[in-house]
Amino acid sequence: MRAAVYEGERTIRLEDVPDPRIEEPTDAVVRIEQAAVCGSDLWTYRGMGAGPGTRIGHEFVGTVEETGPKVTSVRPGDWVIVPFRYSCGQCRFCRRGLQSSCVRGGFWGRECADAGQGQKARVPFADGTLVRALPDGSRPEESLVPSLLMLSDVFPTGYHAALRAGIKPGDTVVVVGDGAVGVNAVLASRLLGAGRVINAGSSHGDRNALARRFGADEIVTERGEDAVRAVEELTCGRMADAVLECVGTPASFATALRLAAPGATVSYVGLPHGVDVPMAPLFSRNVTITGGICPARAYIPRLLPLVLDGIAKPGDALTGRYSFGDLPRAYEDMDARRTLKALVDVDPRA
Ligand SMILES: [Zn+2]
Ligand SMILES: [Zn+2]
Repeated sequence: MRAAVYEGERTIRLEDVPDPRIEEPTDAVVRIEQAAVCGSDLWTYRGMGAGPGTRIGHEFVGTVEETGPKVTSVRPGDWVIVPFRYSCGQCRFCRRGLQSSCVRGGFWGRECADAGQGQKARVPFADGTLVRALPDGSRPEESLVPSLLMLSDVFPTGYHAALRAGIKPGDTVVVVGDGAVGVNAVLASRLLGAGRVINAGSSHGDRNALARRFGADEIVTERGEDAVRAVEELTCGRMADAVLECVGTPASFATALRLAAPGATVSYVGLPHGVDVPMAPLFSRNVTITGGICPARAYIPRLLPLVLDGIAKPGDALTGRYSFGDLPRAYEDMDARRTLKALVDVDPRA
């Protein structure tokens, strides 16, 4: 089969790799139908992640092709959503809904040889990892597939940010970041009853429009101190009850901390790169910091009905659609910010 391999800075290639097969009785093999490119894939693409030769991609959906003898929750032919990390479903962390810390779990392309941007993947712990989109395992309606694909990562991640922030009805929320996680954090804030949602940090008109479509009331196009002043003005100096940090850079983190009102919560889900948090200013304002890596598997069953009922359309963040052979161009376009997030149709014969 063919799969995407990171081969060095700004080089992704589709290469021939071994076909996956059942290795453990708890495995399944999934034939991948659609995959997405993530902001965190871009860190790798830019040479700030895994080394050359690493398989890439962790957001994917498809059809179960084969299952090991101990798999009970899915059957061959079932159409499934695959979270961005696999998990056993049984250890103490999985049982408490923190599948991101599963003691037997791991990341696609790292602990498991297969990854999400390929024709197939071996899925360890199929029962603890996979979620059928529909109870009978049938394929959902075509128009829903991109939004179901977003359940792999960015919709649960945005939701994790909002949930961990403890948003209460009527709260003023500022979401820092204009990427796919940012707009999904806007959406999740709305779902949790935020009274006012401000999206900060983007001067990009298309992204502003998308943030509004996802539920943002106001857009702050400035960054840094200018963004702080703009939020001060918008809120008459009250600032935010919750700040959702969806970027992970030192600059965006510094801005997020400055936007928090006394007693507020800053929830971060952007993978931090070189971020150091000064504690003293937080102490004096009683600002809580929370967040971290999202246990997507825990939230998929909760968010799935919202997608199936058309209440949430996280797939609207997929602004570019590419054929499997065009995957390298999907990376180029996202890297150059021509596409917010790329959807890739995986061709089983390519
Ligand atoms: Zn992702
Ligand atoms: Zn586990």
